[in-house]
Amino acid sequence: MKLIVLPGDGIGPEITTATLAVLDAAADRYGLVLEIDQHDVGHVSLAKHGTTVRPELLDRVRRADGFILGPTATFDFKDESKGQINPSKFFRKSLDLFANVRPARTYKGLKAPVGAFDLIVVRENTEGFYADRNLAQGAGEMLVTPDVAISLRRITRLCCERVAHAACALAARRRNHLTVVHKANVLKIADGMFLDICREAATQYPGLHVDDVLVDAMMAHVVRHPARFDVIVTTNMFGDILSDLTAELSGSLGLGGSLNAGQEHAMAQAAHGSAPDIAGQDIANPASLILSAAQLLDWHGARKGEPRAVEAARGIEAALSTAIEAGHATRDLGGRLGTAEFGRSIAEFVGRV
Ligand code: NAD
Repeated sequence: MKLIVLPGDGIGPEITTATLAVLDAAADRYGLVLEIDQHDVGHVSLAKHGTTVRPELLDRVRRADGFILGPTATFDFKDESKGQINPSKFFRKSLDLFANVRPARTYKGLKAPVGAFDLIVVRENTEGFYADRNLAQGAGEMLVTPDVAISLRRITRLCCERVAHAACALAARRRNHLTVVHKANVLKIADGMFLDICREAATQYPGLHVDDVLVDAMMAHVVRHPARFDVIVTTNMFGDILSDLTAELSGSLGLGGSLNAGQEHAMAQAAHGSAPDIAGQDIANPASLILSAAQLLDWHGARKGEPRAVEAARGIEAALSTAIEAGHATRDLGGRLGTAEFGRSIAEFVGRV
């Protein structure tokens, strides 16, 4: 299995190194042959190549079986004409990675202040309020006068349908419960369409129970009783915000795994950003990117009929749970290990569980 690895900015290189240690252990334990091809993106690439993401990387990731993108300092990248392209947008848009799958669950050994839960947020990933990807050309955000700004939100039937089906299919393999999160009481046309399409898609999955919650109320419901949710489907920005909350409720934003999946390609990418406040200190939690890499193995294994990749994904998840239960964790989880040490601990458990 060939993987392209792009470590990114801030804590990206540290959590990527820890992730590669775990993948290496999983390859040994489950008999996978992993070929890793690593390249720069973000600030390092901008300094070396004059662009945060070289176009040739697109061909490389197209030819690979999957790729891992570390977090990048997107807030710094303001002007595409100066090579400051958001790598995340670049790959999601170029490869049409329409479903962003973000699981969150509680772990034995960690406090669960809102109770135990196990849910997945499925977020539409290619349009919505994300101005840098919701137009064919140009950006959906403009300054009309120095004091008037407009941001466009695009919602299309196709994008709603495909993310709805991705979420329904996932729910059908889990507890058969889909919750649509929206704001159709105000955005009656766009979110009304999203809600209708999700409900329509769900009729094709026998036994699937569907309900819906307004996005503002969702912030209360998911904190009050997260165990009532199984798979949640929502539009791009709502899903981005909600999934940071669900990751933090599970123990830490550093547990937020995330897979960006399309029909042909998938990108593992932690749910969080480059965390400049803790970069270079060996304290970031690498679990988010490790779990994302496990999601990528699972996606690849299921698609290509390679059970060893699927087993390796389960093995990594089990090793993380075992490590946490044994009290091996970074400080965001209440532990005392550094990033590299936590990675090594998970890698050791991969060999044993
Ligand atoms: P952030 O997600 O980087 O950090 C938010 C908080 O969570 C910080 O306190 C940080 O220390 C903590 N945190 C994040 N990941 C952690 C981890 N693995 N372990 C422990 N703690 C962790 O959000 P931000 O600070 O608002 O953004 C920083 C930069 O990242 C910005 O340039 C932003 O645009 C960018 N960003 C990139 C992505 C991406 O590449 N996918 C996503 C979100 C934000």
